[in-house]
Amino acid sequence: MTAPRTPLDTLRTVFGYRSFRPFQEEIVTRLIDGGDAFVLMPTGGGKSLCYQIPALHRPGVGIVVSPLISLMKDQVDALRENGVAAAAYNSTLGEREARQVLARLHAGELDLLYVAPERLMTDAFLERLRELPIALFAIDEAHCVSQWGHDFRPEYVGLGRLRGLFPGVPLIALTATADVQTRTDIIARLGLRDAEIYVTGFDRPNIRYSVVEKRKPFNQLMDFLAGRPTEAGIVYALSRKRVEEVAEKLRGAGVEAAAYHAGLADGERSRVQEAFLRDDVRVVVATVAFGMGIDKPNVRFVVHYDLPKNIESYYQETGRAGRDGLPAEALLLFGYGDIPLSRSLIESGGNPEQIRIELHKLNAMVGIAEAGTCRRQALLGYFGERLAEGCGNCDLCLDPPETFDATEDARKALSCVYRVGQRFGVGHVIDVLRGSRNERIRQLGHDRLSTYGIGAHLSAEAWGSVIRQLIHRGYLEQDMANYSVLKLTPAARPLLKGEESLILARPRVKVAAPKKEPKR
Ligand code: ADP
Ligand code: ZN
Repeated sequence: MTAPRTPLDTLRTVFGYRSFRPFQEEIVTRLIDGGDAFVLMPTGGGKSLCYQIPALHRPGVGIVVSPLISLMKDQVDALRENGVAAAAYNSTLGEREARQVLARLHAGELDLLYVAPERLMTDAFLERLRELPIALFAIDEAHCVSQWGHDFRPEYVGLGRLRGLFPGVPLIALTATADVQTRTDIIARLGLRDAEIYVTGFDRPNIRYSVVEKRKPFNQLMDFLAGRPTEAGIVYALSRKRVEEVAEKLRGAGVEAAAYHAGLADGERSRVQEAFLRDDVRVVVATVAFGMGIDKPNVRFVVHYDLPKNIESYYQETGRAGRDGLPAEALLLFGYGDIPLSRSLIESGGNPEQIRIELHKLNAMVGIAEAGTCRRQALLGYFGERLAEGCGNCDLCLDPPETFDATEDARKALSCVYRVGQRFGVGHVIDVLRGSRNERIRQLGHDRLSTYGIGAHLSAEAWGSVIRQLIHRGYLEQDMANYSVLKLTPAARPLLKGEESLILARPRVKVAAPKKEPKR
């Protein structure tokens, strides 16, 4: 087919949509111009158009690598319905069909070809492709290339050769897996050139995030439920034992509750799921095992009775609330006492590298719970998505903590991070700021830095709070692939140069769950 003039025309005439979602157009344009891109969007975010449209605008066929043969077929069918010449080349094809697909490929009749990675990376197939104009390579489910992802596939590793074999062809990697370690690993393994990273779509604006300090958690849960007497929700707890306990106590208190965890018989588990779907059970108390296959649109709240082990889990679990788009709530009962338990769970298994990463992730989760400014900003910031202003729909936006002009302190912290070479973590930076006299500082010569001791007026806790807020606000980032060292982001520049000022929150101990209307 002949491509209409602009990507927007294509979006409208071929796909029948009115406008692009955030970043889709930028991504499309970048690929049309021949650049590589890395796209991080949640499932359903609209990743497919990011390569489908440029494939129609560039000469040659777009090759889409996907591990899921069943999804391939759906995509190809949908494209054909829109008049796009698409085909799949995988193990489900009979010999004749396979030959037909290859014939169309060589005749230049295809706009898009979906291929399984093991098929694509055979020498014979690569030879074919080298004779043909290729519009682009799209690697869907790109996290499969990384051991850090949750779904590593050995057959994806070979895809790292594409960049070298087809130097002139743009490469786009797409995934819904958010964590930074996996992201960095994917980009390195696929050899993306100056990969522009696009992160969007993680925000769930209808979910109100709140954190309260955990004290007598069962009473807190009962208070919460009393304010929402008919709504359905999920309560996540860390252990099976706790799940059983809480469900039992809820039933004792007259709440229609059921327990759900991996230790139950299959029959019992599906009974609970169905009862919840039919609204016969109002509250399911569950371990993380619950929710995988659950698609209940009217879950009105998710309560975390214990601290989730990382932000990815927290995001995924809270994301089960409010799928219908109506207001929903996510409440976290946060107790410092939970941290040692979570730590020991992590430290009891896995290799040292993995343990280090898991501990870092736990710390980041604690950071969300301790956030002094907008929770949503902190949450999205973790995934690399920046929210310019407070969300107006979290406990901290609705009931803001006391603030102070932190411009000077922030500048001190940022320049100290810079002075130690962006090679140290939070603890060391605070030690240097406060002028601690420890051996390590002396050995490193950090007591001779200009920033040594310039922060003696604040306690270590207060500096911790300032630095955490700088991370949440996107001025600093923690490199989790590298001992959680602090690094400046480009956003730090104007602040360091005195072109910007900064208001931060004073840390507070007790946070109350608000029941106000959203502010936007
Ligand atoms: P992903 O691959 O990220 O899981 P898809 O590409 O399958 O998501 O898109 C999810 C849904 O959103 C699809 O039904 C798709 O047609 C729709 N969609 C994507 N982009 C747009 C857009 N710009 N306008 C309207 N609908 C869109
Ligand atoms: Zn907020």
